[in-house]
Formats: sequence, structure tokens, C-alpha cells
Amino acid sequence: MAFEAQIDPGLDTVLVKVASRCNINCTYCYVYNMGDDNWAHLEKFMTPETIGALCNSLAEIVVRQRKCFSIVLHGGEPFLLGEARLRFLLKSLRQVLPEHYPISIQTNGILISWPILDICSKFKVSVAVSIDGPEEVHNKYRVTHNDKGTFDQVVAGINILKAHTDAHFLYAGLLAVIDPLSDPVAVYRFFKELDAPSVDFLYKDGNHTKLPLNKASVFSIEYGVWMVALLEIYINDINPIKVRVLDDMIKSLIGGVVTKEGMGLTDFSIVIIDTDGTIMKNDTLKSTYNGADKFDQPLNIKDASLLDFLNSDEFNEYRKMQRPSNSKCLNCSELHVCGGGMILNRWSKENGFDNPSVYCSDQLYLINAIRKTLAQYNLQHA
Ligand code: SF4
Repeated sequence: MAFEAQIDPGLDTVLVKVASRCNINCTYCYVYNMGDDNWAHLEKFMTPETIGALCNSLAEIVVRQRKCFSIVLHGGEPFLLGEARLRFLLKSLRQVLPEHYPISIQTNGILISWPILDICSKFKVSVAVSIDGPEEVHNKYRVTHNDKGTFDQVVAGINILKAHTDAHFLYAGLLAVIDPLSDPVAVYRFFKELDAPSVDFLYKDGNHTKLPLNKASVFSIEYGVWMVALLEIYINDINPIKVRVLDDMIKSLIGGVVTKEGMGLTDFSIVIIDTDGTIMKNDTLKSTYNGADKFDQPLNIKDASLLDFLNSDEFNEYRKMQRPSNSKCLNCSELHVCGGGMILNRWSKENGFDNPSVYCSDQLYLINAIRKTLAQYNLQHA
């Protein structure tokens, strides 16, 4: 592997898979239910040795990089770690990352407890919970290993989070996977009842070879119609929840920059560390083909410096994949807003990633609706 001279790596996010197993079994989950069984060969939790190597790598980047970067602790289910392992992990991270470096945990919410939150609070770590909507929406896909809905347990966890004395800091927001058959108004109102500070809505995984669930064809706009209904209630709410995807699209239409990958023209530098310390690509790529989330020459942070890797040709090539290559996208008048969507949604067996997003029609429908809304408010747009 060729390494360039070490320069500021411009790292945005390190997503760390601290636990390889999950206590529930969402039917749409790309980790466990899309044919890839890499998780079964991994240790259940990140070991102290791997955590040590991770922290050494992060410390090196803190010194070499001007801007701060964020850490997202993921799984599996990160709270399966339990109190002692969690305390050790967060303490180790905070020893190398000053408090203004955001650390957050993405959880299914079931194992949230007051002692767990006290540990998060002590080390200034916020918590985001995955929940798809009201009971009938959530329980359709987010189920236990015995196919039982998890709604009641997740809401109980969110209520503990809301009640904590440091909730203003701890409660980062919600993450919801869209079901286009659900009612977006009911979903939005329910999230307001949960006092969500923000909601990240995600399209379901899928690509041109395996269409997303409840999308009839690449030309159909089920998800776009759902998002436009969400836009309507959001715009007419005098005290709206932050909805990142809409905020980012609106921002990019009035000349601002987006905050996350999968939209706009900003390249983000995101790296994934698997439970055993292997440096990986975005693990949502697992939903395309077996091994799509692996680098050609896999490295482990126990043997290699993450800083060196971020300066390597292989990582640079991967970073460039965020930019769409298909001529339809390159000639698209909405490229600066849509950005060609998430990489995983461009895949087809025939062309690899050289396609527009499978959500192209949905995106165009939504962007058009946002443009019309901005025009109503006489907001200047690009
Ligand atoms: S996916 Fe469609 S809307 Fe998005 S940039 Fe490509 S062509 Fe344009």
C-alpha cells in the first residue's frame, strides 16, 4: 500500500463497532439479515487491547489534525457491553479526546438504564435511539429474536433517557428507517411526543439489483411521496423537530453546506473500526455484495496506524466513491443537493456503483417540492 507524506487527514467521523452482537433482530438489518456472516467470526466485544490500540491511533490524529472529529459507538448493540466494559471504554476514549470532541452512542434503546446513563454523562457521551415510529410502524420490523415487537421496551428506554438529570445533553435524538406504507404525519407527531431533539430519517437499504422494501421500481416515488408529506407538516410546524435530511437539503438549496454524507457535494472522511480492530468501509455496503465493506488490503489498528491509513491511496480512492460517477448524476441539475445519494443505493450487479441512486426519482420529487416551498417563502435558492 502506498502512503503519502502524513498531512492533516481531515477526518470527520470514526464509527466504532464496540459489540458485534445484537439483543434484537430487525428484519431489515444489513448486518445480520443480508447474507454477510462476518459478525459470527468476531469476538463479542472490543477487547481492552483493541481499545488501547484505537485510543493510541486517535491520540495521534488529535495532534496532527486541526479540526475535531466525532466518534460514534455502534454495534450490534453497544449497551450489551454492560457497565464495567462501557466505563472502561469511555474512560479510555476521554483520556485521549478532549470534551469538545463529540462522542455519541447509537442504541436500540432497550438496555438504557440510569446507571448506564450516569456513565455516559460522566464522560460526556450522548445517546441516540433507533425507533421507527408509533407502535404499529416500529413493531413491523424492529423485533426480538423471537419475532416480538420491541416498541414498549424502546419507549421505556427513551423515557429513562428523557428523565435523566442530564437529559438536555444526553438525549441526542432519534434515528428512524422510513416505511413508505406508514403515515408520515403520525410518525412526526409521535416523535414530537417523545420530545426528540432531532430525527435522522433514513431510506431503507436497497439497490438496483435488490430494490428497497416497498419500492415498486426505480421510477416509482413511494419514498419521495412520504418525504414530501413529512416536509409539509415540518414546514407548517411553528416549533419543528430538527430533521437533518430536510434541513440539509434546504441548506444546500439556499447556498449552505450539508452536515452528513449521502447528500450535497461535500466529501466526508468517515472510517469504521470493526470489533476486532479491522479498518472497514461503511458497513451499509454489506447490503450490496459480500465483502463490499472490506478494503483490498485489510489493516488492523493493532498493527497499523490509522493516521497512515487515512493518508493512503486506498482510503483516498474509497473517499472518492462518495462522488457519483454515472453520467446521469454528473449532468443532473440537482447534483449539488442530492449528491447522488448514499453509495450503497447506487449498486447494481451489472454496473457496480456506476448508477444514479435507486432513489433518484424520489430525490427529484422531494427536491422539486422543497424548491416550491422555498419559492412560497421568497427564499432565494440555487
Ligand atoms: S441520483 Fe438522480 S437526483 Fe441524485 S444526482 Fe443522480 S441523477 Fe440527480
